[in-house]
Amino acid sequence: MRMSKLYMPTLREVPSEAEIPSHKLLLRGGMIRKLVSGVYSYLPLGYRVIRKIENIVREEMDNAGSQELLMSAIQPKEIWESSGRWDNFGPEMFKLKDRNIREFCLGPTHEEYFTSLIRDEIKSYKQLPLNLYQIQTKYRDEKRPRFGLIRAREFIMKDAYSFDRDVEGMEKSYQDMWKAYERIFTRLKLKYKVVEGDSGAMGGNQSHEFMAMSEVGESLVAYCDNCDYAATDEKATVVYNVERTEEDMKDMEKVPTPNTTTIEDLVDFFHIDKSNFGKALVYKIGGEPVVAIIPGDRELNETKLCNYLKVPEHELELADEKTIEKISGAAKGFTGPVGLKEDVKILVDSRITHMRNIIVGGNETDYHLKNVNFGRDFTGEVVEDLLLIDKGDICPKCGKTLLLDRGIEVGNIFQLGTKYSDSLKATYLDENGKEQPIVMGSYGVGVSRSMAAIVEQYHDENGIIWPLVVAPYHVIITIINVKNEEQRELGERIYKELKDRGLEVLLDDRNERAGVKFNDRDLIGIPIRITVGKRANENIVEYSLREDGINEDIPVEAIGDKIEEKFKKEGLTI
Ligand code: ATP
Ligand code: MG
Repeated sequence: MRMSKLYMPTLREVPSEAEIPSHKLLLRGGMIRKLVSGVYSYLPLGYRVIRKIENIVREEMDNAGSQELLMSAIQPKEIWESSGRWDNFGPEMFKLKDRNIREFCLGPTHEEYFTSLIRDEIKSYKQLPLNLYQIQTKYRDEKRPRFGLIRAREFIMKDAYSFDRDVEGMEKSYQDMWKAYERIFTRLKLKYKVVEGDSGAMGGNQSHEFMAMSEVGESLVAYCDNCDYAATDEKATVVYNVERTEEDMKDMEKVPTPNTTTIEDLVDFFHIDKSNFGKALVYKIGGEPVVAIIPGDRELNETKLCNYLKVPEHELELADEKTIEKISGAAKGFTGPVGLKEDVKILVDSRITHMRNIIVGGNETDYHLKNVNFGRDFTGEVVEDLLLIDKGDICPKCGKTLLLDRGIEVGNIFQLGTKYSDSLKATYLDENGKEQPIVMGSYGVGVSRSMAAIVEQYHDENGIIWPLVVAPYHVIITIINVKNEEQRELGERIYKELKDRGLEVLLDDRNERAGVKFNDRDLIGIPIRITVGKRANENIVEYSLREDGINEDIPVEAIGDKIEEKFKKEGLTI
């Protein structure tokens, strides 16, 4: 491709909303453009990357025995009502009506659609197992679209669904997909971790997330470098040992605590550590208040709370001050588990039940209660673990201190079991002619998100450093001065030869200053670079790689070997 013809609208200035490198560089490099919040188009260079990612995903899915098809984005309300997710998916679902006022959604995912598709065709155990996938556009009206392609409202996903006769079969399909995902993300050159995930709105049992590690990642990953434990912060089991369980219970006391509404205020006031307090958090779920009591030095994990209450996360909200006043009779900051005004559901993190003589809100403005004990002074539903993982927590598997790092979720695998086959009545007849539910799994890869994740891991202050395997072009030839005939001719000749060898080549034949060309070349991150300049008359060019920028003068005849060497190093062939 000649750059004089290429549609590559690079930007000097970055739109102010772009906060992270991938968002800035993909915009600046003329690879994507925003239409409205969370909705992007892929321009020629960017779309080449997308297609390369898709092809890697496709090859590995095909190799794993999955079959590609393509379904519509438009889905009728009815199939989503059968699974209960028309309402449960919440405001993230884009809904629309046709001219006859029939309701539809733009698919945020396709479990219901795939299940309803195969249920009419699959009759016998002989047709199972089956694994189908598509690479398609998904729609989610995200609460906070941001970070460009990372949290978009329209994005490209590969979604696959496995259909098996029994749980054993599903587990095998799950393992196969796991392995395929490892190959996909390895080929994409992503540094990633596989971590236990929360099954959330998908339902089902086990799930794992593939996290591209990056400091801008929205997910926190807890992992152990001593054993193989790794989980998202939503899922991670918190091992939190409570001391002082042997202490005798003292008499409960009411203490005036004017204007001490935060844990920090209380620590200053009582001169004791945060861990001596019982923190009350008031939520509203479908209008009903719920109070959760957790140790004062910890944060609550809302995913664990929702899972315990079996409500989707979008139904959970922190209570407003009016609700708090209504149930506690006191201002915010003074809520506690003893003597709440109404018959409110109280959830107690199990650690609280072992603590002795804690300090809690007094349910009276400017008062706290001292020496409060679970069982004697208050009760509630005890929940094993409501806590968010924190620095210094230990591994639930081996006891070593966990490490915390940020990651971008690029893939997700779920064991769904029979959630969708039960509700949508997808069954088969077994060897004995008995009707059985199909056992399912679902498997997603964020194709467009992966593109951004690659940029997060491969860039410097000057631009993107595409790994060769996904780069929009393999080689860029820069002609320093297009008005110089020798330079132009040599550039053209190399361009033709490399293209004839099957390489993807950009020829910078623009009538621009060398500085402009070099800056663009760095920005768009083409891995292999050939500069045709002053020594064109000697058949000498400069050769360098984007990743290290080290220039070498080489004769034209040596270019082929150099490029081959690079391909070999990356495990690729021309
Ligand atoms: P997240 O927790 O980031 O919202 P999710 O659990 O909702 O992700 P899935 O429903 O498992 O995501 O979707 C499969 C894959 O699609 C994800 O692993 C991710 O790579 C990608 N994905 C999900 N939401 C978005 C989005 N808003 N923009 C871009 N990619 C997304
Ligand atoms: Mg999501």
